[in-house]
Amino acid sequence: MSDHHHHSRRDFFRRSFGGILAGASVFEEAFLRAGWARAQAQTATANLFDLEKVADGVFAAVAKPAALTNCNAAIFVLSRDVLVVDAHSKPSAAASLIAQIKKEVTEKPVRYLVNTHFHWDHTQGDAAYKKANPQVQIIASETTKQLLTQLQRNRLKESLDSVPGLIEAAKKRLSQAKTAPERDWANEQLRQLTAYQAEMKSYPLELPTYTITKNHVIKDASGDLELAFNGKAHTAGDIQVFSPAKKVVASGDAIIGFLPNLNDGYPRPWPTTIDSVAAWKFDSIIAGHGPVQHGRERMGQFRNYIEDLTMRVERAKKAGTPLTEVQKTITPGTLATLQAGGFGSYVAGNLAKYTVYLGNRTPVEERLTANIAAIYNNLDKT
Ligand SMILES: [Zn+2]
Ligand SMILES: [Zn+2]
Repeated sequence: MSDHHHHSRRDFFRRSFGGILAGASVFEEAFLRAGWARAQAQTATANLFDLEKVADGVFAAVAKPAALTNCNAAIFVLSRDVLVVDAHSKPSAAASLIAQIKKEVTEKPVRYLVNTHFHWDHTQGDAAYKKANPQVQIIASETTKQLLTQLQRNRLKESLDSVPGLIEAAKKRLSQAKTAPERDWANEQLRQLTAYQAEMKSYPLELPTYTITKNHVIKDASGDLELAFNGKAHTAGDIQVFSPAKKVVASGDAIIGFLPNLNDGYPRPWPTTIDSVAAWKFDSIIAGHGPVQHGRERMGQFRNYIEDLTMRVERAKKAGTPLTEVQKTITPGTLATLQAGGFGSYVAGNLAKYTVYLGNRTPVEERLTANIAAIYNNLDKT
């Protein structure tokens, strides 16, 4: 490896992980570097998802990095058919997963599709499930259906409106690329961004066909599935899916392996909602983004981060501190719950491994700043 290359990689890591990497062990650093190499090696022909067996008949489809993000899916194989949780950002991604399920998991049809919440990266693939099986039942909370009805078209437009800026950023990366892998990576982002524009400009909007208000059970000989609204969290209408027999929860974005997205969120009720989810007896979480979580440690750290940040922002706001000042004061290094138990390194590593980031700051800094603004503005949403 040339010195030049080595340096550009070091700079990449400094940008991506900032102060967090400074505290990372040699082992963690090696892990982060491996993640970056994997992210770079992705090609257009590869599957969009890594299928991972979580329990008997339960699989996580962990989304590989994409310029316009795909969510993970959870796959529950039932005695006659299949339930899938969440449908990615575009029908072609959902169609690709449906084919992968058929090839790698089971020939049984997808009979149930759950939209955990209304966001575009979890619902815009719905049409592909309907095309593959016209009998598919698309399940969401009543609130999610209302939010989709009000906002779906706008959110699609927002995602399309973001593409030209992302194309500019990818072109800039291409012009700065010093190695063949860096050029391949930038070209792949350009290809995906253009493909998204082409696919989504005439996209058929879909709505859930079955809604729930609080609890819903899907009875099956292989073990019942429990669907529940456990309270407001990432949106007003998040639901989670629990298999008591397999001890697995599919959490949507109410629990993820990154820092949360709080833009449509409810900072005060969110930790309590996670406590309600935690009352279920499970061993693994298939999160909406990031790796499968074995055990509850990362869920607890994620919960505590939201609570900690909400208290910090609340105190500052009550003292009359303007938002821009709060964003300067609360940094990754000063947030106890981001430092504790390696949570900061965990989310930084996951963001590097599972997302495409074209910005100039570190993804953790950018998300923290956005979280502070969202909490500042949404503090009293209940
Ligand atoms: Zn998401
Ligand atoms: Zn979301």
